[in-house]
Amino acid sequence: MKFTFLGTGGAFDVVYGNSAAIVEFKGHSILLDCGFTVYPTLRQHQLTRNLEYILLTHLHNDHTGSLANILLHCHYFNTHCRPSILYPDDDFRDEIYEFLRLQIQKPEKYADFIPLSELPGITAVDTFGQHAERLQSYAYIFEENGERIVFSGDLGQPESLFAFLRGMPPKATTVFHDITFSEGNPAHTHYKKLIPLAQDYHILGYHCDPTQNPEDNPLPLVYHRPELLLSSRLEEAVG
Ligand SMILES: [Zn+2]
Ligand SMILES: [Zn+2]
Repeated sequence: MKFTFLGTGGAFDVVYGNSAAIVEFKGHSILLDCGFTVYPTLRQHQLTRNLEYILLTHLHNDHTGSLANILLHCHYFNTHCRPSILYPDDDFRDEIYEFLRLQIQKPEKYADFIPLSELPGITAVDTFGQHAERLQSYAYIFEENGERIVFSGDLGQPESLFAFLRGMPPKATTVFHDITFSEGNPAHTHYKKLIPLAQDYHILGYHCDPTQNPEDNPLPLVYHRPELLLSSRLEEAVG
């Protein structure tokens, strides 16, 4: 299992790209979120051909802004490329469908909709209302070969996600968690809330501007881990 982040920024940190990742999972490739900077990134690195599955945490623009473009691109320019959109439950499938219908009229022309349960090993944690009021959102837990990796999605209130994790059979767990350095931001998790949790979990922060990282933050950021970033992976491949 391997996570390669296409971006690690927050909604307005375009320099760092919208937070999204390509997850290599059980021989499949899953695009996890696809905000408005993701389509140009995929094009730049010629990655549109490899899109097999798309999984979304929620429908904010910095997580979905490239979705319609990606589907149209695959349909018109890539033969044998028809991404499948994984959905955790029927209500969220309907929301994604409606979101796409307003843009591309017939979403089923460009993508298949497949229940997440068809790809065993990924658990969706419903985080409705815990990022933004009345907004459906999910965290996802990936498990393969004894490894457990969690992707929080956007989450202002992390308590129920960690309660869920505590209820799972104990296992070394890496948590990619959205992080804010601003105490007044209720939409994302303040780093000080995550510090005590780092005793039990390997937590890495994302969805932030790394230049704002305070000196008293002991949590590592995905941005500072080259092995997790697309840009350095490619340089490695070339060099
Ligand atoms: Zn976001
Ligand atoms: Zn959001």
